[in-house]
Amino acid sequence: MYKQKLLKTHEVADDSVRVIWMGTAGLYLSDGETGLYIDPFVSRYGLLKVGCGISLKPQHRLIKEWLSITGGNKAEKILVSHSHYDHAMDVPYFAQASGAMIVGSESTFNVARGAGIPEKQIRIISDRDSVTAGKFTATFIKSIHSPALFGKIPWQGEIDEPLIPPAPASAYREGGTYAILVKHPRGTFLHYGSPGVKPGIFEGISAEIVFLSIGGRKDTASLIRYVIEPLHPKTVIPIHFDDLFGPVDKNVSPLIGVKMDEFWKTMAEKGDGLKVNTLPVGEAVVIFP
Ligand SMILES: [Zn+2]
Repeated sequence: MYKQKLLKTHEVADDSVRVIWMGTAGLYLSDGETGLYIDPFVSRYGLLKVGCGISLKPQHRLIKEWLSITGGNKAEKILVSHSHYDHAMDVPYFAQASGAMIVGSESTFNVARGAGIPEKQIRIISDRDSVTAGKFTATFIKSIHSPALFGKIPWQGEIDEPLIPPAPASAYREGGTYAILVKHPRGTFLHYGSPGVKPGIFEGISAEIVFLSIGGRKDTASLIRYVIEPLHPKTVIPIHFDDLFGPVDKNVSPLIGVKMDEFWKTMAEKGDGLKVNTLPVGEAVVIFP
């Protein structure tokens, strides 16, 4: 599954920007001074439990393990693309352990409130709002969720009251989806938490790296046209293609129906010197030396 490897941490300066992929759309970014989580999610459940509406609860042992793998107890912010369970369910517990501020939609606010996070530790954003954390500036750009479930956006709508787990996956309503543009003096990247396409939203914006969720996409060509081409990245890093119904594992197995062949083939045809790299799970990789 690995394509060309990125630089490893021992090859660069201490204040380089590095990322740890947590599986799905979960990332931990750090420049040695400031840490940021985006969509941290590790409490995985099998397809049967998720699909049959069994109540799910955050798995504290795994969250603790991942706080230690990422070094995330120093995180300052947790950025959330949307409030589906596989993006938002664990967020309050990463926030509790680290003291990080949660940044996301009104629905994400209610996921945090349901877990007892104080309101002053939550920031509700709307389209084009920015937050800073150390040298990082994150801007939320309203995008659209992909039609991931039989051609439809799953679990649409808002979470309009505090969501107290355990709760079924369907209780974690989407609440609007945001692309997150993160700027740092060493480089700019975009986190694309769900591969829907909304033409025109990236006009005038560029990013050197795009972390591109590809699970549940309609096709790769429309992502190239409406996400990759406008942003002119040098590197695309596919995320959220791994099987989220199995354990987080070093040996990443793709989600059923994710059509990796179509992805690699279409990206290769795009050419233009664009690099496409996958990340190892749970290992720090330098993105901006
Ligand atoms: Zn989603």
